[in-house]
Amino acid sequence: MKSLSELTFDNRFARLGDAFSTPVLPEPIAEPRLVVASTAAMALLDLDPAEADSEVFAQLFAGHKLWNEAEPRAMVYSGHQFGGYTPRLGDGRGLLLGEVLNEAGEHWDLHLKGAGQTPYSRMGDGRAVLRSSIREFLASEYLHALGIPSSRALCVTASSTPVWREKQETAAMLLRLAQSHVRFGHFEYFYYTQQPELLKQLGEHVLSCHFPDCLEQEQPYLAMFRQVLERNAELIAYWQAYGFCHGVMNSDNMSILGITFDYGPYAFLDDFDAQHICNHSDDSGRYSFSNQVPIAQWNLAALGQALTPLVEVEALRDSLGLFLPLYQTHYLDLMRRRLGWLSGCESDEALIQRLLQLMQGSAVDYNNFFRELGDSAPAQALARLRDDFTDLAGFDAWAADYRARSAEDGAEQEQRRLRMHGVNPKYILRNYLAQQVIEAAEQGDYAPVRELHQVLSRPFEEQPGYERYAQRPPQWGKHLEISCSS
Ligand code: AMP
Ligand code: MG
Repeated sequence: MKSLSELTFDNRFARLGDAFSTPVLPEPIAEPRLVVASTAAMALLDLDPAEADSEVFAQLFAGHKLWNEAEPRAMVYSGHQFGGYTPRLGDGRGLLLGEVLNEAGEHWDLHLKGAGQTPYSRMGDGRAVLRSSIREFLASEYLHALGIPSSRALCVTASSTPVWREKQETAAMLLRLAQSHVRFGHFEYFYYTQQPELLKQLGEHVLSCHFPDCLEQEQPYLAMFRQVLERNAELIAYWQAYGFCHGVMNSDNMSILGITFDYGPYAFLDDFDAQHICNHSDDSGRYSFSNQVPIAQWNLAALGQALTPLVEVEALRDSLGLFLPLYQTHYLDLMRRRLGWLSGCESDEALIQRLLQLMQGSAVDYNNFFRELGDSAPAQALARLRDDFTDLAGFDAWAADYRARSAEDGAEQEQRRLRMHGVNPKYILRNYLAQQVIEAAEQGDYAPVRELHQVLSRPFEEQPGYERYAQRPPQWGKHLEISCSS
């Protein structure tokens, strides 16, 4: 266990030089105080959990102090936003403070979000509000707890610094951890600015730091593209299986590591709705729940385009064709597990589709359905769940087929329950729960956000006394409008 002063830095991205990032110092926020910290994320840096209580912790993560070995820099990138190309984006309000080398030999980027203006701020103030910082914190750690690849969050610090959004709010900072902050948009930037040497340098960096096994391949950049594609196919399968809507799948928000990245107006589905649009600013529904699959492939095509100076176009195109089958394999596998099936069967896809169609329009709570399906033996569980459906004849037909399918696996109920409860969370990060703890935090009460974070860090376990967090959302909580503003 280390103290904050004992961290070891090895700033590989900074060493790429000024074509890739610009040195910028964090601009502190006033009267910093720790809102919430994740001991699980601290462990990635080998940090003693007690360090979160020290005064220097809040100071470091509010921009007041800096390690000597840190080299804060704003990264440059570009990307396709809502389908259109934006030639220059970059870290407009976040800084890569440096890379910590942990005892396991892993590098972890420390990225301070909300650290003030940079050359890439465009018209923005360089700040992040408390509301969105808490939302990103909760989601990062929750997705990780669910087993879904994600950037991580070390802590949120609040302040008295005023920030203007639709109304006056206060500035906060989020310390994000990831093994890389390289986005698809990094490659796009060097491709569209026609700097093939820098594109190659970026590629070499990514290969050697993050895909070293690809260096052994005949075509390392093609192998890297395949791995990025495979990881993203698996990631999107997780999102679709667990009802997670990202909301802003611009190519600058897509990670080359295939982790969930840059949380904005995200949502977990309450009632199942394939067309759900969680981003209030997404008028056309480009990033609706069901569009996440083709959009991920679209973004991979944008990455592939940026790699054309390094890889033959035909090979990239062939790889893109692998995305949907890979996605589908992962998705079916996850859904089978959620439904309690051990083996795979030809008819599973149709049975899953029928279930989703029955859920659509019936106001069935998506995630609770799977949890409750595992609570008791199929016949009893289905009898209880039946009440939630409007098309009863359709449900009965499906339920009969589900029972027959489940009987084939022949699982004993207690084993089935344990298995299903191990993949179907009892506790869901619902927007209304986040909203409640944000409102308390805005009043200076951080106990609710800490408690919610604690509960959500063990989403599959029964936690006596905390049942209220597992309840379905109240009517007001189902239709919260979350905008891009953050
Ligand atoms: P996002 O929609 O959060 O993924 O951000 C898109 C781009 O806008 C990125 O380049 C961000 O760094 C930048 N950006 C977002 N909010 C701000 C802000 N408040 N100040 C400066 N830049 C920002
Ligand atoms: Mg972004």
